[in-house]
This record gives sequence, structure tokens and C-alpha cells, in this order.
Amino acid sequence: MSNQTFDVIVLGAGASGLSAAIMLGDKNLSTLVIGDGRSQMNMAWVENFLGFEEPVVGSHILEIGRKQVAKRGIEVLDLQVTEIVHTDDLVTVKTESASYSARKLILASGQGPLIATAELAGVELVENDEPFTKMKIKIDERHRTSLSNVYATGIATGCASQAIVAAGHGAQTALNLISDLEGKRVHHHQGIPKN
Ligand SMILES: Cc1cc2nc3c(=O)[nH]c(=O)nc-3n(C[C@H](O)[C@H](O)[C@H](O)COP(=O)(O)OP(=O)(O)OC[C@H]3O[C@@H](n4cnc5c(N)ncnc54)[C@H](O)[C@@H]3O)c2cc1C
Repeated sequence: MSNQTFDVIVLGAGASGLSAAIMLGDKNLSTLVIGDGRSQMNMAWVENFLGFEEPVVGSHILEIGRKQVAKRGIEVLDLQVTEIVHTDDLVTVKTESASYSARKLILASGQGPLIATAELAGVELVENDEPFTKMKIKIDERHRTSLSNVYATGIATGCASQAIVAAGHGAQTALNLISDLEGKRVHHHQGIPKN
């Protein structure tokens, strides 16, 4: 069983997870994304995502997102996480064949039956006022969960179930995490290239 250590593992390769990974990659944090293909985006017909003039299937947005993530040197593993182990400094996620550790974990693990993944992580859950899922991950104003080194994002935390909201939430979570690491508020602006 192999074990590699990253700065951040993003558990979930849906709208929020991929968006978080893009932001982490822009800040050169070594990042691994793991998702097992159960994103709600695979069922979505998205008509209101900024930047798309015509309706688009959610899976197409994920496909583009994966390319954006890969461009930043970040791998997306199509695997199911079956165990999450916390030690003082590291969080280790295990699949059937391997384990991967990181200094920080972002749970971007979705809602409905996928809330089981949050339970697996052992984070505190609270009641959700949303029709599909009775519980959501409790987060503070910086998207930190009840466990140190574990952040959570997207519909797992009860944000509005819209692709664009989940994507924005993921980006905000990543920026919160980076800001916490750097001890100051950060953002990523590039400006228009001169030539
Ligand atoms: C039928 C339907 C239609 C929709 N239509 C629209 C629409 O028209 N417009 C719109 O804006 N939104 C729509 N949505 C909502 C939109 O798809 C969600 O808001 C969005 O996908 C939420 O993103 P997320 O990253 O929080 O969760 P998700 O995209 O669901 O991602 C969760 C990720 O966690 C991974 N995961 C969870 N547990 C594990 C585990 N143990 N191991 C590995 N991976 C794991 C999953 O594989 C997945 O990659 C629709 C949703 C549904 C169900």
C-alpha cells in the first residue's frame, strides 16, 4: 500500500472540489483530488452558469474543470475513499489499494447518500433545512469543520444546490485554507498579460 504526502487532499471531484483544486494549484500547493464519479453534476442540465451562453450538461463542466486542474499539475484519482484517519499533523485517506496523506483535507463530498463520507471523516454534522439531506457538515465562517486540519465545502455544508454556488464555495474554501496557512488574507489575481 503506497503512501504519498500532499499539502492538501480534496475529497470530491464535483463542482466545489475541482474549483477548490484550481485555486490551490494557482498557489502551488501540492494537491490531490479524489472522486468516485458520483457528482450530482452528472445529472445536471445547467442553464445559469456564468460564462455559458447556452445550457450545458453538468458533466461537460466537470470535464473542463478536470482539464483546468490537470493544467496545474494536479492529479484527479477516480477512486472511492473507504477510510479516513486523523493524526496530530496529518490526515490520511485510504482507498482499497492505496493511502494518501496531507496536512489539510477539504471535504467536497456532496449530499444525499454521500453524507456518509462526512460521517466516515468523523466531522460534526448539524441539521440541514434542505429537502434532500437531513444533515450537513458543520463549518465555521472560514469553512473549518469540528476537526483541526479538515475544511468542508459545497452542498455537503448546505450551500445552495446550484453548480455556480458550489463552485464559488469551493474557491472560497481554498482561499480560506491558503489564508490560514499564510497567516494573512490572500486572493489570486493575475491581471491582463501585457503582450
Ligand atoms: C438531478 C439534478 C439536477 C441538477 N440540475 C442543476 C442545474 O440545472 N443547475 C445547477 O446549477 N445545479 C444543478 N444541480 C445541482 C448541482 O449539480 C450541485 O449543486 C453540485 O453538483 C454540487 O457540487 P458539490 O461539489 O458540492 O457536490 P457534487 O458535485 O455532488 O460532488 C461530490 C463529489 O464527492 C465525491 N465523493 C463523495 N464521497 C466520496 C468517497 N467516499 N470517495 C470518493 N469520492 C467521494 C463524489 O464522487 C463527487 O465527486 C442538479 C442536481 C441534481 C441532482
